[in-house]
Amino acid sequence: MQAELQRLRADIGRLEQARRALEAQLAGSVAPSAPITTSAELQATLRRFLKQVGLIVQAEKCVIMLYDEETGDLVATSPALGISDEEVAKFRIPATQGISGQVFREMKPVLCHDAMSDPRTVNEMSALLKVRNSITVPLVAERKNAEDMVVERKTIGIFHAYNKRFAEGFGEEDVALLKSLARNAAAVISTAKTYIAVADEKRELEHTFQSMVSGVMVVSGEGKLRLMNAAARQIFGVPRGDRLGGRLQEVIFNSDVEDLVNNALTSGIENIRELSIFTPEERVFQVQTALLRDDDQQVSGVVTTFNDITELRNVERMKTEFVSSVSHELRTPLTSIKGFVRTMLDDSEGYYERDMQREFLGIIDSECDRLVRLISDLLNVSRIESGRSLELSLKRVNLPELIERRVESQRSYTSRHEFVVHCDDGFPELVADEDKVDQILTNLLSNAVKYSPEGGKVTVDARDCGDTVSVSISDEGIGIPPEHLDKVFLRFHRVDSMDTRQAGGTGIGLYLVKHLVDAHRGSMEVTSEVGKGSTFKFTLPKTQPEQEGSTE
Ligand code: ADP
Repeated sequence: MQAELQRLRADIGRLEQARRALEAQLAGSVAPSAPITTSAELQATLRRFLKQVGLIVQAEKCVIMLYDEETGDLVATSPALGISDEEVAKFRIPATQGISGQVFREMKPVLCHDAMSDPRTVNEMSALLKVRNSITVPLVAERKNAEDMVVERKTIGIFHAYNKRFAEGFGEEDVALLKSLARNAAAVISTAKTYIAVADEKRELEHTFQSMVSGVMVVSGEGKLRLMNAAARQIFGVPRGDRLGGRLQEVIFNSDVEDLVNNALTSGIENIRELSIFTPEERVFQVQTALLRDDDQQVSGVVTTFNDITELRNVERMKTEFVSSVSHELRTPLTSIKGFVRTMLDDSEGYYERDMQREFLGIIDSECDRLVRLISDLLNVSRIESGRSLELSLKRVNLPELIERRVESQRSYTSRHEFVVHCDDGFPELVADEDKVDQILTNLLSNAVKYSPEGGKVTVDARDCGDTVSVSISDEGIGIPPEHLDKVFLRFHRVDSMDTRQAGGTGIGLYLVKHLVDAHRGSMEVTSEVGKGSTFKFTLPKTQPEQEGSTE
């Protein structure tokens, strides 16, 4: 009775198998009609294939192992049938070992009726996957020529089907079925891998092309715009979705660029030029054309690149202006010094009395101070520029006294300004670099005077804020336009107006002030209204980390 039942089961299994085989034949191969270009498509196709194979040969589990040329291993791949992803991840064996290795090397199927006792199996994996019996066939990819003749044959891996259902084990008819199915699968896998590699490469190139900072566009030999990356689209205001393919002049409206491209196409002249392009604000680009040639060296198009050099040109311009303003700032006090010295030297008759001479010497002295300040500013800028930090020489500083001294010296330069100083009572000493705080105050105070040519009140307000102290210096001068407020601390930046030009300057004062405040781990802010005046406020901590408790 038991034996009868078993035979019946086997018959049903065989019938089922035959029916599925027929179905598979009717359905054609596993090869999909359109080429597979993504890993996801390949996975979906393999999943269908494994399910089909499982039904046709009545296997509980199926897995594909692909040969890894780098390690020389056969590596199980997902998806598999009846095997979890974790088990698949563990399943890799050298192509020299076990039944897998034998099938791979010999390119012949192998049947195994009792996996656990078969000496050829790699037992560990058989136990893990609970393999009772198996059939393994090679995955051989064939390359055919135009006459459909096989010109190359390559084993790309192997295919395992495990644990025959409804019967003791796999038989020869399963081998035949699996061999032909595996041939299809190998063809699909190897073609898909090639397509995926090409598609991946294409995607990578596309991403690189699109994320380039420089604008790039390609124009065909017929003058049609073929490609444009995101940066180029932005330069010429071509929306992302807009299709290309039209003539260049229909898409970008810039005769200089057209001339450059046409010149390359018609005369074969590759060129490099600096062009101003409105994007919509005016920017300077270095535009370069390079010819594209086909295999026969015929010109097939032009690649044009656009590098935005606006900032570079701005810095160059600012540097030139800086050199001329520094020369001016150096010459002014020197002219004055020279004038007064000459006057006294030429005064052989003693025309100028002692008081007058002292006044001249006083002017010479303050002009010398001005020169020393400018030179020390320049030296500090070069220190910062070369990446060296501004070292602090810390000591206890009496800020109200320092403020008073600096205000006094400013008073002596101007009669048009009124100076008002507010200082909190019992103002504490702070630990700082006195010369540098002096430089901060001098720069801010001299700016307050310089940029209020009509005179007015200059107010200094010093406050004790607990862990920090703050000093604000306000004037009633020309003020700063809002769009310049965050730029005045940049090196060489000057607001360009009649008043500032007349005032003279180098554009490094506030840049330095900011760095000197930063070196003390302080902060800096500015508020201003054009025509009403400006307030510069800096805040410094009362102590500095390295020197806490160890100052003079
Ligand atoms: P400089 O005064 O040598 O030009 P600064 O770095 O000290 O350089 O200042 C940068 C620019 O900020 C000045 O050119 C000026 O346009 C503006 N500025 C600075 N201080 C004031 C102020 N108190 N009022 C108005 N504008 C100012």
